Amino acid sequence: MTIVATNSTPLSTLHFDNRFVRELPADPLTENQRRQVMKSCYSYIEPTQVKHPQLLAYSKEVAQLIDLDEQDCFSSLFTQVFSGNKVLNGMQPYAQCYGGHQFGNWAGQLGDGRAINLGEVVNQQGQRHTLQLKGAGETPYSRSADGLAVLRSSVREFLCSEAMFHLGVPTTRALSLITTGESVVRDMFYDGRPKAEPGAIVCRVAPSFLRFGSYELFSARGDIDTLKQLVDYTIRTDFPHIGEPSVEVYLNWFKEVCERTADMIVHWMRVGFVHGVMNTDNMSILGLTIDYGPYGWLEDYNPDWTPNTTDANSRRYRFGHQPQIAQWNLFQLANAIYPLIEQAEPLQEIIQNYTHVYTEKWQLMRTDKLGLNSFVSETDDALNHELHEILQLAETDMTIFYRKLADLDTESLEQSDQQLLASLMDAYYAPDALTTNDKTRICNWLRDYQKRVQLDGTPDTVRKQKMNAVNPKYVLRNYMAQLAIDEAEQGDFTLINELLELLRHPYDEQIDMEHHAAKRPDWARERAGCSMLSCSS
Ligand code: AMP
Ligand code: MG
Repeated sequence: MTIVATNSTPLSTLHFDNRFVRELPADPLTENQRRQVMKSCYSYIEPTQVKHPQLLAYSKEVAQLIDLDEQDCFSSLFTQVFSGNKVLNGMQPYAQCYGGHQFGNWAGQLGDGRAINLGEVVNQQGQRHTLQLKGAGETPYSRSADGLAVLRSSVREFLCSEAMFHLGVPTTRALSLITTGESVVRDMFYDGRPKAEPGAIVCRVAPSFLRFGSYELFSARGDIDTLKQLVDYTIRTDFPHIGEPSVEVYLNWFKEVCERTADMIVHWMRVGFVHGVMNTDNMSILGLTIDYGPYGWLEDYNPDWTPNTTDANSRRYRFGHQPQIAQWNLFQLANAIYPLIEQAEPLQEIIQNYTHVYTEKWQLMRTDKLGLNSFVSETDDALNHELHEILQLAETDMTIFYRKLADLDTESLEQSDQQLLASLMDAYYAPDALTTNDKTRICNWLRDYQKRVQLDGTPDTVRKQKMNAVNPKYVLRNYMAQLAIDEAEQGDFTLINELLELLRHPYDEQIDMEHHAAKRPDWARERAGCSMLSCSS
């Protein structure tokens, strides 16, 4: 690559307009001491200096979003700024104050314990993006932890947020991945075996990092003034299209948050993403996927699967439960904003309607996943229900299954069972485990599907195109991220950058990349980091 030297970089002249700190109340104390922060939305705090920052990867699309070119990203200033070592003119670093329900229980004040917002960049199109460093040191909200992040979790967050974006899933973005040159001690499985790991910092980018828990905290404390300020601010900055704040606008706002949340979950279910920690502090008010921790990708289709070992007993945040959990979380948000509305009924109505909103969106999505023209409940309820069942007869790779299904010949109804099944075999982890009954049941479903497609009259080529636009070929399989982490911990960042590139085009067939579309290998079945993750990061 050629890097042309110039005297000044746009990085040093980025335009910041920090509306959040300008318009919302600040914590009057500025020392870096852990504390309960009252009547304030944030505390000013500088990132901690790190010894030897090194850039491992950056996202060129995110860089472009804030008007940075390649040359900026390779400058030493970039590494200094996005490791927290240098604060640019115009930045006003702060940590947000929020609370949240964790695993179903009210947890009180949480806040940005290791995230530091640098400021809001306004790009040449006038779009606003908050830059946030994750792992940049202690804040007043660090509680008993160190404010840092390790390389493995940072690689996972960096790669997954970009992968999700390119899949078309609403998400916060990641600009950069930088190692700090310092080590961080973590007891990965909370089993008394702490280990030093390399430290790292990801710069996350989003229009806003407000969460359901941001509103819950003020409400729980009875601080309705600050709650109102924050809600009005949110509506004016991020939902200006719904009008000036009023009781009616609060309700419309809540309705839109429900819609956006439902959209996000539909996308998660479409691509097989399990968030792993859907606590209300991890629910973005913009309906973006946020806080990539012990998330995972469904490999064999198992609605009960969660990658999060911290949630292994109750499996509250398992794949199939995500739509209901989102509704539970929205209910907490409704409770939080109730004091501004003082009428339970319209809020209840919106919450109850979430089920319909979600179901409708999910039906449409399933229609797309199967390459059908529209959802016809007389046939398609049963078709989808049986699909859900046959995917669980034997370990079936969800991602591969849908891609193979797109290849099915639906134009000739005369195929034998063997011919029908042959096309799907790649999707099975242990094809020999399929009993004769299983095979018959799968073939019956495939024949029903063929007939359903014929009713639509969609030619196979068109259907395939439609399906392959929503059913990805490449996702960040859990073991792939782990391989990239293993190499990165040995100082080799090639795979991180290869995966970043691969996942920019998740729906395309890519030459020489077939191995990244392969089923999870056997060694990864029970390996930590691949099938089991904890909240330790
Ligand atoms: P999470 O489960 O990652 O969403 O984090 C829940 C809360 O713990 C948030 O307030 C985080 O800021 C905080 N937290 C998580 N890890 C750390 C850490 N290493 N240092 C300080 N705070 C942390
Ligand atoms: Mg969080």
